[in-house]
Amino acid sequence: MWERYSRQVILPQIGTDGQSKLAESRVVIIGCGALGSVVAGTLARAGVGHIVVIDRDFVELNNLQRQVLFVESDVGRPKAIAAAEGLGLINSTIVVEPVVKDVNQTNVELLIQDADLVLDGTDNFQTRLVVNDACVKHGIPWIYAAAIGTSGLVLPILPDGPCLRCLFPAPPPAGALPTCDTAGVLSTAPLVTAGLESTEAIKLLLGKGQEPRLVMIDVWDQTISTLAVEKAADCVCCGQKNFEFLTAEKEEIITTLCGRDAVQITPATPGRISLPELAAVLAPVGEVEQNDYILVFRTQGYEISVFGDGRAIIKGTDDSNLARSLYARYIGV
Ligand SMILES: [Zn+2]
Repeated sequence: MWERYSRQVILPQIGTDGQSKLAESRVVIIGCGALGSVVAGTLARAGVGHIVVIDRDFVELNNLQRQVLFVESDVGRPKAIAAAEGLGLINSTIVVEPVVKDVNQTNVELLIQDADLVLDGTDNFQTRLVVNDACVKHGIPWIYAAAIGTSGLVLPILPDGPCLRCLFPAPPPAGALPTCDTAGVLSTAPLVTAGLESTEAIKLLLGKGQEPRLVMIDVWDQTISTLAVEKAADCVCCGQKNFEFLTAEKEEIITTLCGRDAVQITPATPGRISLPELAAVLAPVGEVEQNDYILVFRTQGYEISVFGDGRAIIKGTDDSNLARSLYARYIGV
């Protein structure tokens, strides 16, 4: 029955027991861009039995340079939906669950609660800090990964080991880190980084994880190095168990998006809104396109994409006040 996996079952590191463990595993991949695409595709091919793919965004043409799960006809579709379809074509014997959501303090604990492992495919530090708090609190292993320019980082974070805040005690101030907007990204940097992340994922799912080390690569310079990360005794998260990124006020969340000249607005209380009804209201004042998942409204040089839960991405500005006022004017919340 495992002809599909014969080449990895014969590996002494995996074997039939390992293959069974993979089949019984449930992973949650947060973010399905360049890293998430590779990790999801690799774990689907490896036979991980249940894969949840969460992404808040939709596919854009400039994603195709590095986000290997997507093709031209996916442009404009939610990444989680397009990814799940692609993964279903790769392996129809596993369960793939797409979730079109922004992961934040209001929903992260519910989204990861049944996971054997959580995988980082995000593009921002704020979400990673929320994921770190939730995983440490619930004793779920997760793997931090990041890629930018020609370089990448991977660090497995185990329930009793050092956490992300042992490595980065304070969140970096806005603008301190390069983004794909300011630094660009060579497609092979996330490919190699996600390959390492997928390897650590398989090891952890098989119970063969080792002392966590930060792996640092640069594909252009052909370098790879590792750094032992120590648990910080006074770590706010894993030491003091103060999960401050989970206890932030449940208010409207406004996020400037990496590399997009765009702002995302997540309402304090997500609710269902009728996209066809909204389309009818907006049609007289601008250009409207709508499918089952998204309504796209263009007016005055701005593009407002609204999801069914009321979340919106406003393109054409990185000014959160302006974005908030456009949201209030046209979506009316
Ligand atoms: Zn820590």
